[in-house]
Amino acid sequence: MSALRVTRALQHIAKQGLRAKSTAPQTASSASAPHSGFNFELSEQQKEFQATARKFAREEVIPAAAQYDRTGEYPVPLIKRAWELGLMNGHIPEHCGGLNLGIFDTCLITEEIAYGCTGIQTAIEANSLGQMPVILAGNEAQQKKYLGRMTEEPLMCAYCVTEPGAGSDVAGIKTRAEKKGNEYIINGQKMWITNGGKANWYFLLARTNPDPKAPAGKAFTGFIVDADAPGVQPGRKEMNMGQRCSDTRGIVFEDVRVPAENVLIGEGSGFKIAMGAFDKTRPPVAAGAVGLAQRALDEATKYSMERKTFGKVLAEHQAVSFMLAEMAMKVELARLAYQRAAWEVDSGRRNTYYASIAKAFAGDIANQVASDAVQIFGGNGFNSDYPVEKLMRDAKIYQIYEGTAQIQRLIIAREHFNKYNE
Ligand SMILES: Cc1cc2nc3c(=O)[nH]c(=O)nc-3n(C[C@H](O)[C@H](O)[C@H](O)COP(=O)(O)OP(=O)(O)OC[C@H]3O[C@@H](n4cnc5c(N)ncnc54)[C@H](O)[C@@H]3O)c2cc1C
Repeated sequence: MSALRVTRALQHIAKQGLRAKSTAPQTASSASAPHSGFNFELSEQQKEFQATARKFAREEVIPAAAQYDRTGEYPVPLIKRAWELGLMNGHIPEHCGGLNLGIFDTCLITEEIAYGCTGIQTAIEANSLGQMPVILAGNEAQQKKYLGRMTEEPLMCAYCVTEPGAGSDVAGIKTRAEKKGNEYIINGQKMWITNGGKANWYFLLARTNPDPKAPAGKAFTGFIVDADAPGVQPGRKEMNMGQRCSDTRGIVFEDVRVPAENVLIGEGSGFKIAMGAFDKTRPPVAAGAVGLAQRALDEATKYSMERKTFGKVLAEHQAVSFMLAEMAMKVELARLAYQRAAWEVDSGRRNTYYASIAKAFAGDIANQVASDAVQIFGGNGFNSDYPVEKLMRDAKIYQIYEGTAQIQRLIIAREHFNKYNE
C-alpha cells in the first residue's frame, strides 16, 4: 500500500494493532483455530473493533442523536469521526488502501453504531451498499479510482436502483442507458436513494436491452456514475418517519454521459451484480436492526428497574419482566442470525438463505422490541423527551429497505424449496 493511501483512519487502526490480520473471506478450511468450528469467542481484533465502535456510539453518537433526529440535518461531524476511527468503508480491498474486512467484522461495528443512532448508521451503511457492486464486480482500475478515493477522505457513495415505479420488482425499472460511441447516455429517475444528495458517485442500474422480453439476467447493466456529471439532478431531501438524519432523495438522470469504462463487468451483467450485493449487505442491515433492538431492551430494562407502580418497581411485576424476557430472547436470536449469515459468506459459501432469514427476523423483532419498549415506558414512551419513541420510528425501515419483509420471505421460501428439489 502506498504511503499516500494511508489515511488517518488506517493510521489510527494500525496504531491500535487492529490491522494486524485481515479477516476477509476465509475458506472454511483456512479459518484458523481457535475461531474455526463452533465457537462464539470473538478474536482479540474483533473485540477491539467492537470496543472502538461501542465507545464512539456511547460517547459521541448518543449525545447528538436526538438533535439530528429533530433537525434532520446530515451528521457530517459524526461521519467524519467514524471515518477517522476506521469505522467506515471496512470492506474496501487492501490494494485500494482499505482494510479488506470480512462481513462478520463490519457487522460487529454496525451493531454498535446502530445502538447509538440508526439514522447515522444507515448513512454509513449506504456507503457499503454503494461500494459492494464495485468490490464484487469492478476491475482493478475502477476499484482503485472509486474505492481508493474513499480511503483518502470521508466521501459518501450510493446505490441507485429503486425507482418511483419499481422497488421490490427490480426488473421493472425503466431507467435506460443507450450506447453512443464509447459512452452510454442515461435517462431516467431513481427514488429513495440513501446518501442521494451527499454521494460522490453512484452505482446505478439501468436497462440496456430495450426488448421487454429480454431476461433480467441480460437486460440490465451496472454503471459507476460520477455525482457531478452534467444531467445528474438530486431532488429534495425526503422527510421520513424515522432515521431522519439519513439523506434520502429521488434523483433524475437526464442525458447523463457515462464512459464505457465505467460499466461493471460488461453490458447485461447488472442485475446479477445488483442482487448479488445483497448477500453481503443484508447481514449488516440485520446487525443494525439488532443494535436498535438491544438499545430498546436496555432502555426499557433500566426504566423498569426505576419506575414504581403499586408500591414496587415495574420489573417486579411479572407481566413486565416476562415482556423483557421475550424481548431479550428476540435480540439474542436475531444476533445469532446475522452472525450466521455473515460467517457463511465470509467462509466462501452462498448465504442468500441465511442473509434473508437474518434480515427478515431482525427487521421484525426490532419493530416488536421497540414497540414493547414504548409500552414499558407508558405515557413517557410516547414522548420525544424519552429515547424509545425515536427507536420505534427508526425501526420501521428495517422491514422495508434492502428488500421488504415480504420479499425476504419469498427468497427464504424459494431457497427452502430448492433444497428439496436438489
Ligand atoms: C428510507 C429509505 C431508504 C432507501 N434506500 C435505498 C437505496 O439506497 N437504494 C435503493 O435503490 N433503494 C432504496 N430504498 C428503496 C427500498 O429498497 C424500496 O422502498 C423497497 O425495496 C420496496 O419497494 P417499493 O417502495 O417500491 O414498494 P413496493 O415494491 O411497491 O411494495 C409495496 C408493498 O407490497 C409488498 N409486495 C410487493 N411485491 C410483493 C410480492 N411479490 N409478494 C408479496 N408482497 C409484495 C411489499 O413487501 C410492500 O409491503 C430505500 C427506501 C427507503 C424508504
